[in-house]
Amino acid sequence: MEKVSKQHLIYAMSASNEPVLKVKPGTAVLFETCDCFEDQITSEDTPFDALDWDKINPATGPVYIEGAESGDILAVRIDKIAIKDKGVMMTGPDLGVLGGELKQNTIKMIPIENEHAMLSSTLQIPVNKMIGVIGTAPAEGAVSCGTPDDHGGNMDCKEITEGAVLLLPVNVPGALLALGDLHAAMADGEAAVCGVEVAGEVLVRIDLIKGKKWPLPMIVNDTHIMTLSSKETLDEASNQAVINMVDFLDTETGMDRDEAIFLLSLAGNLKICQVVDPNKTARVELPLRYVENQFSLDSLLRGAKEHV
Ligand code: CA
Ligand code: CA
Repeated sequence: MEKVSKQHLIYAMSASNEPVLKVKPGTAVLFETCDCFEDQITSEDTPFDALDWDKINPATGPVYIEGAESGDILAVRIDKIAIKDKGVMMTGPDLGVLGGELKQNTIKMIPIENEHAMLSSTLQIPVNKMIGVIGTAPAEGAVSCGTPDDHGGNMDCKEITEGAVLLLPVNVPGALLALGDLHAAMADGEAAVCGVEVAGEVLVRIDLIKGKKWPLPMIVNDTHIMTLSSKETLDEASNQAVINMVDFLDTETGMDRDEAIFLLSLAGNLKICQVVDPNKTARVELPLRYVENQFSLDSLLRGAKEHV
């Protein structure tokens, strides 16, 4: 297993970032991550003005995957997410859904006890650990780690969690994978602009799929296959997530496009990931049983392994 410490942080995903580690496909990598404030908030009295706002949403990395070429698919299997026992939440003017009405910033420290986020003595939310920021370098330019787009980034999708395989595009040689912004808990929408923000460690296994053209990013877990889209508006993101799943079904299962849209209308749940970042993110979740005769990520990954 390889490890990347949280001394290696980036604030934008870009082909010009120097890789901090080079690995072969099939390698397990442990990423140590800061919280989205780069661990600057240590108490509810931490003054807002004292925070360095250039140090927001750091991602640990990037990692160069040998043999990854533009047009390939990076398959990131999330094996384990370990989090610290204290997280932080924050909201205020211009932040989150209530940003227009809030008059002051509020910081709340959230202890994590017995697999629950302790919002108060009576409000205890079951932990659902997830990765907020994860992506590859875009083909051109630099995209802030706070912005989600086709390369991944700040998608804040609660399905990017243990047991899931996240499929990301390879846009530049080596892909340049980076991740951070763990949440101990978060609901679809992320209404306040944050989950329970927490530092931790993520163990992934990174594989490569060649010769497939899928509408990325996508997620496959034990029960569902998902397409994600991040766009300026939620309408655009929702439509594109649906179109992406139709495209996938069309190219990978041979389903007619009209049959695919009928299927999605009946069995593909369209959900909101988040409505608070510079682009909004939506996803479609389709139960795997509708595609399992034509599609198996496991066998694809096994095939990829045999060719390494
Ligand atoms: Ca985030
Ligand atoms: Ca976050």
